[in-house]
Amino acid sequence: MKLLKYLSLALALGTCTPAFADINAFACEPHWTALLAEVGGGHVSVTTASGAFNDPHFIQARPSLISAVRKADLVVCNGADLEVGWLPVLMQQGARASVQPGQPGFLDASQSVQMLQVPASVDRAQGDIHPYGNPHFQTDPRNIGLVAAELTKRLAQLDPSNAADYQKRYADFKARWDAAVTKWQQQAAPLKGMKLIAYHDGWVYMQNWLGIEAVGFLEPKPGIPPSPGHLSELLGKIKSEGVKGIIYTPYEDEQAPEWLSERGSIPVAQIPDTVGADDDKDLFQFYGLMVDRLLKLQGGGK
Ligand SMILES: [Zn+2]
Repeated sequence: MKLLKYLSLALALGTCTPAFADINAFACEPHWTALLAEVGGGHVSVTTASGAFNDPHFIQARPSLISAVRKADLVVCNGADLEVGWLPVLMQQGARASVQPGQPGFLDASQSVQMLQVPASVDRAQGDIHPYGNPHFQTDPRNIGLVAAELTKRLAQLDPSNAADYQKRYADFKARWDAAVTKWQQQAAPLKGMKLIAYHDGWVYMQNWLGIEAVGFLEPKPGIPPSPGHLSELLGKIKSEGVKGIIYTPYEDEQAPEWLSERGSIPVAQIPDTVGADDDKDLFQFYGLMVDRLLKLQGGGK
């Protein structure tokens, strides 16, 4: 079933290489593949390094990714060290000079958004996987709109013969996107003030967007797995702070969230943080599902 879903997503997102692509792109995460499909259309073919079932902090530099990054004209990634554990190693395996960081062929999407939780200093005792601010900014769809503008510029720069088409596609996408964001905000209005517990501190942009508060995380520090003592502490918080639900992504272990849900008598929901875990075939369907699931969780789950 998962394979079928993956295949249909691959077709929908254009991950299968068109014969006449003008740009070979390499996307670190599936939301950029989906955005490339919106703005680039048939001019761009994309290989995606991670999927909705993979933790984007930890991806294997497998041979198919090495060969894809070697022929890439454009690399698009969240940045802010989300991929620090694997992307530099992959890029050293023969990626072109024109796609190295700082070049037009490397789009570090974090440069286009307002980063949250930027630490004043990097202290390893605080966990060390978010040293440049929280890199999970795709959980706020407004950031997708910001990156879309920069992506359009890069595509036009790298492939000037199709610049007018990229700009036209961007204008069309941006109009539909802004309308969708407004609609989601209206639907999500009842979520304002909701308190939840998340597995990883990966939702601060969504929280900021919808007025949701995370009162704790299953991980005691980013990247550190839950311990029994920490879970007991969270159980206390559920009662004292009126927590409405627990969320985790498809690539996080469900045991600890399920345990906490049962003991705390609050609902738990698996909420993907990128496109393609379910029947969502594009960015519009992905954020629609995110809002639906949060509303369901607030309503008591199930
Ligand atoms: Zn993280």
